[in-house]
Amino acid sequence: MELFDVYSLFDVTPVRAQGCRVWDDKGQEYLDLYGGHAVISVGHSHPRYVKALKEQLDCIGFYSNSVRNPLQVELAHKLGELSGYPEYSLFLDNSGAESNENALKLASFHTGKDRIIAFHKSFHGRTSGAVAVTDNPKIVSPFNATHKVTFCDLNDADAVETAMKKGDVAAVIIEGIQGCGGINIPAPGFLGTLRSLCDKYGVCLVLDEVQSGYGRSGKFFAHQWEGIKADIVTMGKGIANGFPCGGILISPAFKASKGLLGTTFGGNYLAMAAANAVIDIIRDEKLVENAGEVGEYLKSGIPASPRIKEVRGRGLMIGIEFNESVADIRRELLFGKHIFTGVAGQNMVRLLAPLVLTKDDADTFIKALREVL
Ligand code: PMP
Repeated sequence: MELFDVYSLFDVTPVRAQGCRVWDDKGQEYLDLYGGHAVISVGHSHPRYVKALKEQLDCIGFYSNSVRNPLQVELAHKLGELSGYPEYSLFLDNSGAESNENALKLASFHTGKDRIIAFHKSFHGRTSGAVAVTDNPKIVSPFNATHKVTFCDLNDADAVETAMKKGDVAAVIIEGIQGCGGINIPAPGFLGTLRSLCDKYGVCLVLDEVQSGYGRSGKFFAHQWEGIKADIVTMGKGIANGFPCGGILISPAFKASKGLLGTTFGGNYLAMAAANAVIDIIRDEKLVENAGEVGEYLKSGIPASPRIKEVRGRGLMIGIEFNESVADIRRELLFGKHIFTGVAGQNMVRLLAPLVLTKDDADTFIKALREVL
């Protein structure tokens, strides 16, 4: 059997990783500024993380959600404190897309309504429910397209209010910072306006922090730069440093009832050991602060160049938009300078480094980029 061929692959086979470094099967070392789509939050194979997972595996790896799992309660307490959402409750699942599906389902149960407002260039996942709030024609199938979604331009509050006035909207879903769509930060005040509109029309505000959350932007969640609170916050990616895990934070306004949401694997012991280790490391090593500081340092060191149109982002969520396709630049960075980067669209190099990145690592990248340019 062959693999279903849906990924464009670089000819690199990583076999070992530590912190922000990855080694391939030929012993070549790389600097990882991408972390597998923002997944590596506390660094590859952090010793505390590895120890926690090994110890958990020796005890119990999995049992279903029909019995008590104290590791879930531990995570909820720690996450509530560190995220600034202590009064919210936590539902655990397995991925970003699943978190968004659960959030939208909860919003529609809560409001009794079935329309969602989302924004152009947003990305919320590839399962049928989450993909339905993504307007990328490449990934919306006819099956997905049956969902009721109104797309607005980011920052167009009038369009949002016009849609809400029709009275059938359950939720607005918005990324704290748009990731796959090109590192677009909502304009100052826009999230606050959305909050007010949601309150006025009885609509749930869902903040997708799958990519921009968990410390990446220099605040625990990117929307906290605007001082607002969401009704539901969705998480994934860095929450367990690569162990599949997702979750949603739910406002006390939502009432839980038995069977309302559910999952086989969500919140399993191994995922919880990983997620608890991640939150402990983020707190103890002050990685949210580090992401903010090193991210700004890296951004400020990116050289001015006629080939670069704009540098955007917050913390360690950085987009370098070029006036040209970045395919060759990324290839040169990977094979010439041994640095992993990501991409958004054709023209943007997207950096989503582990939150343990140092200023020395940032200097390595800046020097390499200068040389490539
Ligand atoms: N939301 C956002 C903002 C994302 O960036 C992604 C993944 N790129 C998802 C949701 C979907 O997450 P997953 O691939 O874990 O389902």
